[in-house]
Amino acid sequence: MILVLGGTVEGRRLAEALTRAGIEHVSSLAGRTSSSPELGPVRTGGFGGAAGLASYLREHHVSVVIDATHPFAATMSHHAALACEAAGVRLIRCERPGWSTHPDAEGWTWVDDHEAAAAAVLATGSLRPLLSVGRLHTLDYAPPLHRLSVLARVAEPPSGALPEAWRLLVARGPFQLPDEQRLFAEESIDCLVTKDSGGSATAAKLDAARQAGARVVVVRRPRGPETVETAPSVEECLALLGPA
Ligand code: NAP
Repeated sequence: MILVLGGTVEGRRLAEALTRAGIEHVSSLAGRTSSSPELGPVRTGGFGGAAGLASYLREHHVSVVIDATHPFAATMSHHAALACEAAGVRLIRCERPGWSTHPDAEGWTWVDDHEAAAAAVLATGSLRPLLSVGRLHTLDYAPPLHRLSVLARVAEPPSGALPEAWRLLVARGPFQLPDEQRLFAEESIDCLVTKDSGGSATAAKLDAARQAGARVVVVRRPRGPETVETAPSVEECLALLGPA
């Protein structure tokens, strides 16, 4: 049985492919993403740390874990590595490449965390930043950037109140370049703050930023576990699994 740790487009596409191929699998979601029949069987919620996950792997006779969690969900990836080691289960990491190879990447300001990203925004002298860092971290920027006229774009509204000077834009990707160009122009965006999420669904903002002459601040990915067999795409991950 294959366990797919999901919550991402890749996790969904892997589960759909396994369902189509008739391969026994279960998708695991943290509880924030919605399920759909095409995924096949789904379990929801945490395992109770690496030890809980190791017990789950043994109890359910899991032979392979595919860690298709988001590049910034590092805790789950570390737990998966520990649990697979303890239970003697094969682990494959499916992780989309980041944006460090983007032609403009050398001109961006790369930082290690959100605190440093907020400081970098202030250092640019930006008046109208576009904050695109996900629902969970948007509010981290409220204290340092409360005076700026921030446009905060999130797929789902954050759980707390935003500073008065901010405006919330609830929108879910994928985003196309013409729409991103319009957003940068109409909102006079002069700085983009993003995580190095990678993938194409939200990459148009990077090109729109260059065209608008906006600065770009990128939060680097957290370090995942080392020495894990890794595939950069769903197709390569399925190829690693081999024939059913
Ligand atoms: P995280 O910090 O790495 O994980 C926190 C805890 O949530 C884990 O220790 C685990 O609880 C539980 N968990 C995480 N992913 C799980 C999964 N697929 N199935 C079961 N339990 C899971 O993760 P996060 O950053 O909060 O992200 C949570 C989920 O949202 C992930 O599945 C991720 O793929 C998805 N997501 C995250 C981001 C992001 O930017 N972080 C963006 C898009 C989607 P236990 O220790 O109890 O097992």
